[in-house]
Amino acid sequence: MEIATETCGVQQIKGRRRLVLFPLPYQGHISPMLQLANILYSKGFSVTIIHTRFNSPNPSSHPDFTFLSIPDGLLEHQASTKDIIALNTVLNVNCVEPFKDCLAKLLADEDSNVACLITDVMWHFTQSVADSFEIPRLVLRTTSVWSFHLMVNLPLFRASGYLSIQEEPVQGHPLLKVEELPMFKTHNLEDLYRLVSSVVKEIKASAGFIWNTFEELEHEAMTKFVQDFPNVPMFPIGSFHKYFSASSSSLIEQDQSSITWLNTRSPKSVLYVSFGSLAEFSETEFLEIAWGLVNSMQPFLWVVRPRLIRGCSEWLEDLPNGFMAMVNGRGHIVKWAHQQEVLAHFAVGGFWTHNGWNSTLESICEGVPMICLPRFADQMVNARYVSDIWRVGLHLENKIERGEIGNAIRKLMVGSEGEELRQRSNELKENLNTSLRHGDSSCSCVERLTSYILSL
Ligand code: UDP
Repeated sequence: MEIATETCGVQQIKGRRRLVLFPLPYQGHISPMLQLANILYSKGFSVTIIHTRFNSPNPSSHPDFTFLSIPDGLLEHQASTKDIIALNTVLNVNCVEPFKDCLAKLLADEDSNVACLITDVMWHFTQSVADSFEIPRLVLRTTSVWSFHLMVNLPLFRASGYLSIQEEPVQGHPLLKVEELPMFKTHNLEDLYRLVSSVVKEIKASAGFIWNTFEELEHEAMTKFVQDFPNVPMFPIGSFHKYFSASSSSLIEQDQSSITWLNTRSPKSVLYVSFGSLAEFSETEFLEIAWGLVNSMQPFLWVVRPRLIRGCSEWLEDLPNGFMAMVNGRGHIVKWAHQQEVLAHFAVGGFWTHNGWNSTLESICEGVPMICLPRFADQMVNARYVSDIWRVGLHLENKIERGEIGNAIRKLMVGSEGEELRQRSNELKENLNTSLRHGDSSCSCVERLTSYILSL
């Protein structure tokens, strides 16, 4: 793996200033926040991570950082990611006092030397806390710029009566249909609009915005975003995971048998299948996926996360009878893998993904072409960009059906279209990796961010 720090250089800054980071408690948000912590630690800052008890990261994996846990007050029925908007709403209320107390104690220590607070952008309440302590707050967004730009515009789209026709193209984004906007299933849609409005207001009051993306990949989106938030300095310094092969921030244990199994396969022959930490499928959809994999006759490594199937508590109980016998050693199933290692493995030739932003970036950075099966939130926008703009993936547009799945897998893994996608993926990877080298955009942007924080 290429490690950008070789060229970015580790620079020590005298009298280490401390950064206080506060990730949102989901896998796709915790990992990039801890990766950012590693990047900034290498630039000479000390790091304190404040985190909720819900989905708490494992401090022993990050011995260089100080971890402070705060009570999140979640009742048993609230501590679930089934309704992310409801959960974000309640967390933004419950965490105010515990977060304030925690920060007050930290700042009371004369040696704390805090330079700034860096919170996930969705923790909107932290701006007024930062203001009350007179410390600057920067925000981190862990999705693509495009999808977040569309998300912050949802209240405007709604006001212009525009969200009702699902098949209509989105104004200013002719490739996207209204149904592909970053929406969430939630029991109270008003919570979503309130949350977005609060987030937008507090971005405007923040001291800066850090993105896990490449300027080159999202230049147009970034230009539009800057127009909407002209007074907020932007720092696109992705892809975070490429700076170090740092310790894992996985909330689930990673099964190393993925790698030993891949070691036995030929180059670029295996389809890696994973739908991230939150997506769910019905039992029928799960069976279609399983049959599609078998019928494709291609080798596969499949992450079946516990509770991937809606309403099921067990693991592989819903696989068709005799499934593993039919697969006949051609497939391997694990509960959770070391995805970055898997995507960098010589045997992996394709990635069937839900297009969470981390997964999308991890795939792009290894030059692995994708089959896109987005489920909700920003995933639909990411998938559209992967298939129609960057042209490094196939989009499974219709119902989840075994015949279509089998065709798409064969097209990607052994078809001529797959070969073209693989070539374009490699070109994109090469272009973006240049950005992580000294003097190019992501790397020089880290230098700019470091100087900026020290100037606050
Ligand atoms: N991941 C992993 N092992 C797995 C599946 C996923 O380590 O078996 C990691 C993956 O590398 C990525 C994160 O989980 O960093 C998922 O984030 P993403 O934004 O792709 O999706 P989300 O889980 O937020 O839907």
